[in-house]
Amino acid sequence: MSDGHHGVESYASARTKAIESLLVEKGLIASDAIDAIVETYEQDIGPMNGAKVVARAWCDPEYKKHLLEDGTNAIADMGFVGREGAQIIVLENTGDVHNMVVCTLCSCYPWPVLGLPPAWYKSFAYRSRAVSEPRSVLKDFGMDLADSAEIRVWDSTAEVRYMVLPQRPEGTEGMSEEELAELVSRDSMVGVAEVAAPAVAAVADN
Ligand code: FE
Repeated sequence: MSDGHHGVESYASARTKAIESLLVEKGLIASDAIDAIVETYEQDIGPMNGAKVVARAWCDPEYKKHLLEDGTNAIADMGFVGREGAQIIVLENTGDVHNMVVCTLCSCYPWPVLGLPPAWYKSFAYRSRAVSEPRSVLKDFGMDLADSAEIRVWDSTAEVRYMVLPQRPEGTEGMSEEELAELVSRDSMVGVAEVAAPAVAAVADN
């Protein structure tokens, strides 16, 4: 994986490559096995699994209850299990409470539902500012929360990963679970965006 910051390779990236080539050289692991893992989490999984979980919770109150009580198992029920997903807690956003997720230490993230974390999630700026000034971070992401809304910031760890259940947007009453899943963005499940209502034209099309 290349790190595109002005062509200067980051320490972490250089270190990862060095470790990988050592492992390959010593015959401990095949380079294509590593590529396959990265590709799986980067492209095949991505945030779409999480979007399906959210859409189902919006449509099925029983499932939503299960999801909020026992995220790990409710997510596993949909077949989403694997690396970096041993314990996943799902947090519901409402008009009164807004949850957002960070990993202040590094980049812990719920891979089985969201894939690999985006670069901004791993940045020092996000990791520090999400805690010290969450409201202004949300503003940078284009969110204007009501002053009365309480913001809860959740710090992920190696053991516990978080996913946000965003609010279902208005104007989506007639939509199917599949259509709803397509509206759900990665950022909304990290808690730095709302799910946008479908465009009027798109609804009129159906
Ligand atoms: Fe981390």
